Amino acid sequence: MSQPLTARSADISLAELLALHQRSHGSARLLQNLGDGFLYQKNPFFRRIRDAARARGIGFTLQDPGDYFAFPLVALDTVLAARRVPYRANYAALAAFERTRPGFFTLADLQKNRPLPNYVLHESAHVVAYRELFGRPRDTHAALSEPSKLVHIVLGEAYAMTAEYFAACAVSGPVHAWFFSINSYRHRVPAKKAVGEFVSRFGLPLVVWLVLIAFLENNFFVERLAMKTLERALELYPLGKLPHISRADRVRLCRALSALMVMNPEFREDTARLFLTMHGYRRNIRSVLSAEPLDSIARDANLPVQLTRLVGTLCDRPSNGRVGQK
Ligand SMILES: [Zn+2]
Repeated sequence: MSQPLTARSADISLAELLALHQRSHGSARLLQNLGDGFLYQKNPFFRRIRDAARARGIGFTLQDPGDYFAFPLVALDTVLAARRVPYRANYAALAAFERTRPGFFTLADLQKNRPLPNYVLHESAHVVAYRELFGRPRDTHAALSEPSKLVHIVLGEAYAMTAEYFAACAVSGPVHAWFFSINSYRHRVPAKKAVGEFVSRFGLPLVVWLVLIAFLENNFFVERLAMKTLERALELYPLGKLPHISRADRVRLCRALSALMVMNPEFREDTARLFLTMHGYRRNIRSVLSAEPLDSIARDANLPVQLTRLVGTLCDRPSNGRVGQK
């Protein structure tokens, strides 16, 4: 079952929230991104993507490369090429609001109007995936337009969705939920309990792998994960020996992973069409994305290593983190 992520937070004063934001600031964190330091401290998946980005020389900018804020999808090429993730000074904006009547406001006042969010987590995951899957091509647009790289493009989106999904699973408490909600596209966490149980039994890397494949399939317009697709994904698991998974658990895995694949298909289709047609693909995007992506993964000799690194990044290998955050 899917629960809304944002808990009731009427009792939190804005002054308290802003003080917490400031106290959580430190190295590797962005002072002007609301909740950044808090999420870096409390949310292991947010932190792992930040550290992975920094380790790859990816920066963050308050400027607006490629007019990102006007049309983020169209600016993705520029963000990937510049390796700088744009964000807005929403902390300064909220602090200015608080200064108008210090100590007066609470989060309940911000339910319908609040500063604009930043999608630093999602976009950083895109750039990390791009760096692993494409290297550092001289011409980003040309690299993304290369027909043999279709599955790599979609893997980038699936990876960003996977990072956000696990980060959402790690949210606990109203402050964490509020800071996360202003940092993410994801506001619901379907199958959180089932996924948490699978993580404790089979380890985080395998479950991250399967969630990544579920989102990949979903972006190829597969709406439910079939048993044969799960079996194939298990066969292609690049991170080592598989644990024993009973038939009953495989059925439960299919059910839980299918519960994640409930994005609005029209939105997905429209987004994919815009992005892929910009890179030379034909308009009939369902036919462009009609192949089985696991076939493409099986054919590419470089992908196992690249995907091992990407999945490992989210798991902070070698230690197996837990999905739930205490
Ligand atoms: Zn994306």
